[in-house]
Amino acid sequence: MSIDRRKFLKIAGLSGIGLGLSAADSLVKGKAHASEESSLPESGVRLALVIDIGKIRTDEDYKRITDACHSIHNVPSIPNTKHEVKWIWTDNYEHTFPDQTNEFIPHEMKEKRFLLLCNHCAKPPCVRVCPTKATFKRPDGIVAQDPHRCIGCRFCMAACPYGSRSFNWVDPRKYLDMNKTNPDYPTRTMGVVEKCTLCVERLARGLEPACVEVSNGAIVFGNLADPGSNVRKILSTHYTIIRKPAVGTQPSVFYVIGGGENAG
Ligand code: SF4
Ligand code: SF4
Ligand code: SF4
Repeated sequence: MSIDRRKFLKIAGLSGIGLGLSAADSLVKGKAHASEESSLPESGVRLALVIDIGKIRTDEDYKRITDACHSIHNVPSIPNTKHEVKWIWTDNYEHTFPDQTNEFIPHEMKEKRFLLLCNHCAKPPCVRVCPTKATFKRPDGIVAQDPHRCIGCRFCMAACPYGSRSFNWVDPRKYLDMNKTNPDYPTRTMGVVEKCTLCVERLARGLEPACVEVSNGAIVFGNLADPGSNVRKILSTHYTIIRKPAVGTQPSVFYVIGGGENAG
């Protein structure tokens, strides 16, 4: 499903989507400081995801979403969990929202699994600590990463409070069926860090992020800075939470959390 054309052009025109990487990068360099002052940037675009956890129910639902991301981005399946590479994964409530839990939360919530990914934070510490600018924030709010500039220092991993980055301890290509990789997306090498890119390559083609596309409406994508956007409509009509608000990174991934109607 492609994004409504008018809506996409509006986002693309304001955000620099479709500009070459260097053009977008130079915009970032010029505006990074200003955009980090406020959660709603001068560019008028802050791309965001809203995940309705009540709409992701079965193992198949979770698998469809994570597989969509990992297959098109050639993310290897490495059995050794110490070496695993993950762009989108699941964890329980306690680990997802450690500062928003208590012993009396509903049983269904304790049992529920949550989808986790890079939060494309408005104030991303990973960007601040990256010595090579391999990790950088785009004017549209996406925290992007250029693996070619990554020297594998892992400062960004230490700085990210969400564990959203993976280091390639081993050659990832050994854990991919190279006959079945997506030829339109590069594979990575040992010694670099990687993470969810909010599907920049799909956005540039007018498509929604892959996880959004296969989620059957459970994940919604849009511009947080636009009061009329679909994400803002959901945020203004549903109770949502973000991960670890106390650390002040201002995530752009929101979770719709309800009562019994949403859990289970
Ligand atoms: S979730 Fe982590 S990796 Fe993603 S932007 Fe925030 S700090 Fe950076
Ligand atoms: S590991 Fe790569 S992306 Fe992370 S801080 Fe170091 S150079 Fe930047
Ligand atoms: S936005 Fe794209 S890259 Fe990020 S988790 Fe979803 S499918 Fe993967």
